[in-house]
Amino acid sequence: MTKWVYTFGGGKAEGRSEMKNLLGGKGANLAEMASLGIPVPAGFTISTEVCTYFTSNSETYPPDLEEQVNAAMAEVEKVMGGKFGAKTWPLLLVSVRSGARASMPGMMDTVLNLGLNDESVEILAKNSGDARFAYDSYRRFIQMYCNVVLDVDSHHFETLLESHKEKQGQTFDTDLTAEDWKILVKAFKNEVHKHLGKPFPQDPKEQLWGAIGAVFGSWMNKRAITYRRLHGIPSDWGTAVNVQAMVFGNMGDDCATGVCFTRNPSTGENLFYGEYLVNAQGEDVVAGIRTPQPLSLAEKNSMGSELPAMEEVLPPLYTQLVAVRDKLESHYTDMQDMEFTIQQNKLWMLQTRTGKRTSQAALKIAVEMCEEGMIDKAEAVRRMDPAQLDQLLHPMLDPKAAKEVLGKGLPASPGAASGQIVFTADEAEAWAKDGKKVILTRIETSPEDIGGMHVAEGILTTRGGMTSHAAVVARGMGTPCVAGAGDLRVDYAAKTLTAGGVVLKEGDVITLDGASGQVLKGEVPKILPEMTGDFGKLMEWVDEFRTLKVRANAETPLDASTARNFGCEGIGLCRTEHMFFDPQRIIHVREMIVATTEEARRAALEKLLPYQRQDFVELFTIMAGLPVTIRFLDPPLHEFLPHTDADMAEVAKAAGTDVATVKARAAQLHETNPMLGHRGCRLGVTYPEIYEMQARAIFEAVAEVGKKGIKVLPEAMLPLIAVKAEFDRLKQLVDRVAKEVMERTGAKFDYMVGTMIELPRAALVADKIAEGAEFFSFGTNDLTQTTYGLSRDDAGNFLVPYQDLGVIPNDPFVTIDQEGVGELVKIACERGRKTRPDIKLGICGEHGGDPASVHFCHSVGLSYVSCSPYRVPIARLAAAQAALGSGGVHSTA
Ligand code: PEP
Ligand code: MG
Repeated sequence: MTKWVYTFGGGKAEGRSEMKNLLGGKGANLAEMASLGIPVPAGFTISTEVCTYFTSNSETYPPDLEEQVNAAMAEVEKVMGGKFGAKTWPLLLVSVRSGARASMPGMMDTVLNLGLNDESVEILAKNSGDARFAYDSYRRFIQMYCNVVLDVDSHHFETLLESHKEKQGQTFDTDLTAEDWKILVKAFKNEVHKHLGKPFPQDPKEQLWGAIGAVFGSWMNKRAITYRRLHGIPSDWGTAVNVQAMVFGNMGDDCATGVCFTRNPSTGENLFYGEYLVNAQGEDVVAGIRTPQPLSLAEKNSMGSELPAMEEVLPPLYTQLVAVRDKLESHYTDMQDMEFTIQQNKLWMLQTRTGKRTSQAALKIAVEMCEEGMIDKAEAVRRMDPAQLDQLLHPMLDPKAAKEVLGKGLPASPGAASGQIVFTADEAEAWAKDGKKVILTRIETSPEDIGGMHVAEGILTTRGGMTSHAAVVARGMGTPCVAGAGDLRVDYAAKTLTAGGVVLKEGDVITLDGASGQVLKGEVPKILPEMTGDFGKLMEWVDEFRTLKVRANAETPLDASTARNFGCEGIGLCRTEHMFFDPQRIIHVREMIVATTEEARRAALEKLLPYQRQDFVELFTIMAGLPVTIRFLDPPLHEFLPHTDADMAEVAKAAGTDVATVKARAAQLHETNPMLGHRGCRLGVTYPEIYEMQARAIFEAVAEVGKKGIKVLPEAMLPLIAVKAEFDRLKQLVDRVAKEVMERTGAKFDYMVGTMIELPRAALVADKIAEGAEFFSFGTNDLTQTTYGLSRDDAGNFLVPYQDLGVIPNDPFVTIDQEGVGELVKIACERGRKTRPDIKLGICGEHGGDPASVHFCHSVGLSYVSCSPYRVPIARLAAAQAALGSGGVHSTA
């Protein structure tokens, strides 16, 4: 018999925290807490395997499930001392919640207070001594159950509630009496009857199975599907369902409910941190209707809160909660995010999980836990998600910049962002598609807004706390967020944001400072954070583990010095054409390409030589002895052509010819598929004088810096080689120029000549090319383009739908396609090594900075990856994690 159901509670459990795949994160951790002797309301978890059965068997259950559920419910009744569906006290009410393997906050459905009906509500009222509480619980149950299970939208009930309050002259829900709730329960039930043509289900068993089915069904709802796509969660994981005894935080002033983190999830500070509300249910803390209160006095002081802390209001329970915090953090050796409820002075833990945290917090927690001896260096390195590290490299507001503060909210997710105000998630998506930077500005956000939140530069809400939906989701995404900015007013109808006397319209620019909570007018200048302190420490540890070297793709002195600050170990790709586009130079480049004779071409190239040489002198000086790979001219000449009449006239003048000749030459050079045209080494083969000039510039620069005592190891790299003969011809040219320069200058230097592997043919004949090539650098941008037969420039239009449809798992231009492109890389490595066992192998396509691709590069034994300067730390971390055989393998895109 398959075991589908696992019970927990009363100091024991059938599950364990390692059983997340089967029990989901929530169920596995509830089981673990119960086994640790932490007070957890008893319950049971229906496994993810039932979800898989349910989705693949037309929403039916395994035949023996019901029997197992009944047995588990009997066990819960025994531990909690109540009866589910009883007609007498004590009653057992339950919650039914989803719980997937990976946390998907707010993405799936929950039903609370299940088991209430017209009879049991009376029993609850009588025995709790609080009729108001009983009827409030019943109406919440009807509302949630209808929304989740019966498809009757919550707003129908909200409307009834609002009109009742208006009639009675009441403002807050807390103003309503037992009698009011009784009237509303009746109205709610009538509403259900109106929509469904039948009464609200009274049988607790029917309610239970309805809720179980709805939670399993919610795995396939639209927002869960979107969330999974954004977070790379496979749909076949399924969710578990947790059925758990209800405990109530809303039965009076000796009751409370809250959420807390063992350390501050925003800053990482080792300070117990959280929010709670007296006399409330869990949903009230995150709903943003009442302002939650701080847990500890330290937190209260640090936030400047006026509200009483739990430490003051419920001191013995606070002490118990602190003990649970200590126990859970040292048990899991990681920061935990917990939910608790206090019912009549008894503490119950409802959840614990590894807490989501900002990148700053992740870094601080990893480093401090290592220094506290809780984890070792390898674990600290494993803990840091490379995508999170990326956020640490992002800008903060320049403290010296002038600022006009419009208002202040909670510092919900750090980082600074500027953009145009939009008021709906759909608009955010539409504007972002047009290339605009937007700040999604909402009263509060909900799971439906996920798409818009994802594309926004920053998120601003006027309602909600640090654990509101906006705050939690923004932190997870690393998007700057200011939440609950109560002194700002959003008017959706007028599309305005009002702050003090200032009225801002849709499209106006604002800046958010997610670190201070400030909302500022206009675009405020930003600066990059320092790479010292905890960051420096972690990166030192990273370097102790990795075996892959990390270089940078850089050609300007600024990029090269940035990359060095980030710890690069050389330049893996200097794209020399980027040096050609400078306005002072482009005219000579154009002169060169419109030239019709070799002599004229050489004359133009002669003018470019000093610029190019000076570029290399600067690069070599900055890299101070580290290897520098210089790629010879790669793009089609087509790209340099003059376009306007004025440009044509200027080129004609410089070249001493007429406009008609320039136009004719431009027409001659025009290509239909320039990416597959006259580019790369094909230019060097047909116009050798171009590569000759570049080789001369390189070697003369080597000789020049050599005089200053700087030793350089230039690596001359030939692009887009397809056949060995191309390589051999061009290597001869490079060797000849090197010899000439050595003879002329008297300098002696070493250099290497190698190739990019960017074409499938090159990968297949790598053994032959390696006879002359001393290194290969995989140009996986072009290799992906040519392997897939996909244009790098045009593929965006269908790659997104392809991913949505599950045709491909990732954008192959972001994360290397291991199956196809990766196979060619492997073949080229093997064949290259066969001819030249010590051949140097690296990668310089965009993939070099993508963590999942870095893992692949490590696995095939490349010696280095090369990526854009800002991704150097990410690549270093990913390389260390690859060496440790674990860690984040998510794409950073
Ligand atoms: C490549 O093709 O991967 C590469 C690095 O070259 P480029 O992007 O300049 O074509
Ligand atoms: Mg290329």
